[in-house]
Amino acid sequence: MSAEIISGTEMRAAILDELRVEVTKMKEQHGVVPGLVTILVGANPASLSYVTLKVKTALGLGFHEIQDDQPEDITEEALLQLIDKYNNDNSIHGILVQLPLPKHINEEKIINAIDPGKDVDGFHPVNLGRMVLGDRDGFLPCTPYGIQEMIIRSGTETSGAETVVVGRSNIVGKPISIMMGQKGEGANSTVTMVHTRTQDLEAHCKRADILIVAAGVPGLVKPEWIKAGATVIDVGVNRIGMSDSGKAILSGDVAFDEAKQIAGKITPVPGGVGPMTIAMLMKNTVKSAKKHIEKA
Ligand code: NAD
Repeated sequence: MSAEIISGTEMRAAILDELRVEVTKMKEQHGVVPGLVTILVGANPASLSYVTLKVKTALGLGFHEIQDDQPEDITEEALLQLIDKYNNDNSIHGILVQLPLPKHINEEKIINAIDPGKDVDGFHPVNLGRMVLGDRDGFLPCTPYGIQEMIIRSGTETSGAETVVVGRSNIVGKPISIMMGQKGEGANSTVTMVHTRTQDLEAHCKRADILIVAAGVPGLVKPEWIKAGATVIDVGVNRIGMSDSGKAILSGDVAFDEAKQIAGKITPVPGGVGPMTIAMLMKNTVKSAKKHIEKA
């Protein structure tokens, strides 16, 4: 039997519809529009396409959106000053600095300079600390947040489930491992986090009721590693070639065509986790605007 496809594109559309209703209400009742600034340094083609999509989505929701592109050679000091300006701008509820930054800029310093109350990417240590403590008042990092939302909306049982996460990066593997083990909706599972030093990756993957793969290695997870009926979330986005029309051909970390014959539910690449990341960025920005209204 073929697995149910968990469509991130469809879930994103549903989430954006829900947000649109909230934005309209916020505007009518409080005269406030969520404000998001996206800062892109340089012109890395992948970053440019991510930022363009974020800006388009924010504008589509009726946000006050500022696209503040900066030259590749902006100094660290000037970028810090720019962040300070938006930290103090009451019309802005979310500050997004597109990563990676050029080598001469210390990324950690930049992330740490963003007001945690406007860190809608959820990368600031204060928000990561809140996530670890299970405090839902902060901002969850967007990709893990999107993964958890997909698991919930797909009706996957997480309580007591064996969840295996492949990868331990600060932006995906580590946070989603913690989130899946927390108390609460879409969590309460028993989590194993595996990585490059894990001795028997296959044995761990085979135990997983929920398998979340964020390694960045195309085809890393073989179909025979998947437990029958498991929910498979493929986070990997790998450029494996170019189409005749010059578009990048993308593949995930899981051998999708074969895996979908074994899994119960599976996300595609593209059209899986990717669209959810942007939807959760918008959700965090709306949440930030709401908090701003409550404080006023
Ligand atoms: P990363 O390179 O920072 O981390 C990869 C992790 O995978 C590492 O912790 C490493 O230990 C582990 N790993 C790598 N090869 C492995 C192997 N052979 N066996 C076991 N573990 C292995 O990457 P990242 O930033 O976490 O991203 C992972 C993938 O997810 C990439 O393809 C990236 O493009 C994609 N990604 C997608 C989104 C999205 O929105 N869809 C967001 C972030 C990252």
